[in-house]
Amino acid sequence: MPNVADQIIRSRRKTIAILIRQDGKVIVRAPLLLPQRLINAFIESKIAWINDKKSLILKSPPVPTRQFVSGEKFWLFGELIPLRVVDDQKTALIFKEEFHLSSKSQGQASILFQNWYRAKARTVITQRVELLANRYGFKYGRIRISSARNRWGSCSSLGTLSFTWRLVMAPLEVIDYVVIHELVHLKIKNHSAAFWLEVGRLMPDYRLHKEWLRRNGHSLTLTGNE
Ligand SMILES: [Zn+2]
Repeated sequence: MPNVADQIIRSRRKTIAILIRQDGKVIVRAPLLLPQRLINAFIESKIAWINDKKSLILKSPPVPTRQFVSGEKFWLFGELIPLRVVDDQKTALIFKEEFHLSSKSQGQASILFQNWYRAKARTVITQRVELLANRYGFKYGRIRISSARNRWGSCSSLGTLSFTWRLVMAPLEVIDYVVIHELVHLKIKNHSAAFWLEVGRLMPDYRLHKEWLRRNGHSLTLTGNE
């Protein structure tokens, strides 16, 4: 088998994850003691996904390297929001139609933005989950906001719903698609025909939003390597 992984990083994590970087390099993260053959088998099972992601990334314009200077734009709800660096601002980062970053805080901009997105994700995703779960009669456990790069959402066996903060960069309908997807997982764990039928019943145009994520998901990033 030709090895498609450009780099394998072992650490004290419990699961394997594959990340396609903006330059098309395939990075695999794996638990310390997991046998190489299991890692290879995992990569092998994801080949179609890897190739699809790679070609999308290599075909699309590169994500600009951001330096957090005025004029740079950041995704929020499917729109690119400009940043303005200002001198006379007490709060490090605020949002009012544009992002306003205090010039004194420019050095910590990446982490300030991440925290801002995380808080936004917590508020908005919680609202959408409550609203949609109520509307369609789902009972969930708690809501977790993660930093996952490739996983928009997940649903644990205890009914915990996890969503990455990056999701608030996507349009609201796309957020709702991911929320509905995870809510349906509360009842149907796999991606069987019955699962997609149920997603389609609750959201008839879900394919559009799924495709939007497939095409644009890799550009929903702050700096390209956070
Ligand atoms: Zn799923």
